[in-house]
Amino acid sequence: MNLTDKDRQERRAFLKQLIRIPSVKGSASARAPFGAATLEALQTFLAKAQADGFRTKVIDGKVGYLEFGPDTASAPLLAAVCHLDVVPAGDWQQAFEPQLIDGRMVGRGSIDDKGPAVAVYFGLKRLLQEGYEPRCKLRLILGLDEESGSDCMKRYTKTEQLPVAAFTPDAEFPVIHAEKGLLQFTLTLSWPETTVPADKLTLLAAHAGTRANVVPGDCHLTWQLPDGRHESETVTGVMGHASLPQAAENAISKAMEQARLRLAATGQTQPWLEFYQQQIGMCYDGRLMGLAGKDAVSGPLTFNAGVLQLDAQQARLTCDIRYPVTWDVAELRTKIRSACEPYGVQYTENHHAAPLYLAKDQPLVMILTRIYNEQTGQQAEPIAIGGGTYARSLPNTVAFGPVFPGQPGVCHQTGEYADLASLERSEAIYTEAFRQLDQAFAR
Ligand SMILES: [Zn+2]
Repeated sequence: MNLTDKDRQERRAFLKQLIRIPSVKGSASARAPFGAATLEALQTFLAKAQADGFRTKVIDGKVGYLEFGPDTASAPLLAAVCHLDVVPAGDWQQAFEPQLIDGRMVGRGSIDDKGPAVAVYFGLKRLLQEGYEPRCKLRLILGLDEESGSDCMKRYTKTEQLPVAAFTPDAEFPVIHAEKGLLQFTLTLSWPETTVPADKLTLLAAHAGTRANVVPGDCHLTWQLPDGRHESETVTGVMGHASLPQAAENAISKAMEQARLRLAATGQTQPWLEFYQQQIGMCYDGRLMGLAGKDAVSGPLTFNAGVLQLDAQQARLTCDIRYPVTWDVAELRTKIRSACEPYGVQYTENHHAAPLYLAKDQPLVMILTRIYNEQTGQQAEPIAIGGGTYARSLPNTVAFGPVFPGQPGVCHQTGEYADLASLERSEAIYTEAFRQLDQAFAR
């Protein structure tokens, strides 16, 4: 793929224009259910597409697409799925003032996911302009709610044509053919309020974590000492992502064990701390509840204790499990419930996302893998991850790029950037993907 300076300029200008729109989820209106800025990003994108000769559509202000190819209901659909909403700037002042520094476009959304959307777009535009006549419809779907639950894709799948094959450039290369199942739940234990004997050491409160999918880096404890004074204590671990808990150190688990030992030294027990030691402990694989195990496709189950709120009468712990793609979630639920029951601990499910799994010999996986290897000179195999992508929200879809192996992940971070040379390589890969998928899936 040979890009001229003018080509590059056009890509940069469009990406900058998109980054300048602060498309963070905002207050809902009838017209723009995910906030005015998200819809503005979509309309900006589709206005260019229309001017360039694509058909476009906006669906209830939640999701839209551009496409070319046969305009008939019977033509199979091939799609790339990107999103134009972004996470908040946090304390990053220049998040929405894109800057080109050393070949990198710096700004919120540059790599997650506006840059990849632009790469796919120009791939399609190239095919359109060179007069390529696909036998499938080639569509770029643009969602506006990926960062907050993907309601955009729920809306899309309700009325719009579903792809026979699709990829989402919202993760990493090579092809991700397996995404573990995700189960998030809260464990609650209440006990009668006892009047705290003034002369005994008592755990009054414990707090840690903000989200189930983050390994908490510290846990704050409040004690009442035998002399009546209060003491605060912070137990520190190492923060991390719930899908890789073994790479972090869970501060809740550490704090619960230290608290249990401290009470035991005065001859006391506490029901929640006993439960924690016997059923959760310091493990990150759910072993004590009998959950540990793995499959050959996607590796081991992971368990994260993410958020703890404990006071003098009650403990609430929110957990995040990633389970192997070939497992049955009903069996997991039963095991967790029966581990909790003897202690009077209550299980409440918050969220479940079924695993995604396409075998390595499925045409979509094989074709994308072959293209990736051809274009990069690698001999990569499809990979499995514990995290979840957009791919779960559409049938026949896998995550594919845009981050290359060895590149740092900068999504959601201050200083988020997209390396422009890498986006060009991605564009070449995505262009070829559409071309070869079209040949394979045409009827
Ligand atoms: Zn994303």
